[in-house]
Amino acid sequence: MQTLIPSKMALTPEGVLQIEWSDGHQSRYTPQNLRGSCPCAECVDEITGKRQVFPQDIAAGIRPREARPVGRYAYQFVWSDGHDTGLYSYEYLRALCECDDCLAKRNDTKEKE
Ligand SMILES: [Zn+2]
Ligand SMILES: [Zn+2]
Repeated sequence: MQTLIPSKMALTPEGVLQIEWSDGHQSRYTPQNLRGSCPCAECVDEITGKRQVFPQDIAAGIRPREARPVGRYAYQFVWSDGHDTGLYSYEYLRALCECDDCLAKRNDTKEKE
């Protein structure tokens, strides 16, 4: 399978992150969901794999301050609360997409389970 890479990235005044992918897909991410999906060892217990920090734990008004590219596979976000240890791989980011299409697909899958 072809590796998808972000070709454009933008941040709206509301703090919503927008990514356009190499296949043309337009993703959007609300800051609380993105911060609350952080995959770092502080937010997800390394041993049990259990998530410790959820989107509902994140204060409203959180913003990604910076997105640093890590190699050619991930972004490291620096958040307005100072948290910056999460590496979001492109694959992970794509799976978190909150566009209407992706949300509808994920809801379909959930109903089938
Ligand atoms: Zn984290
Ligand atoms: Zn999508």
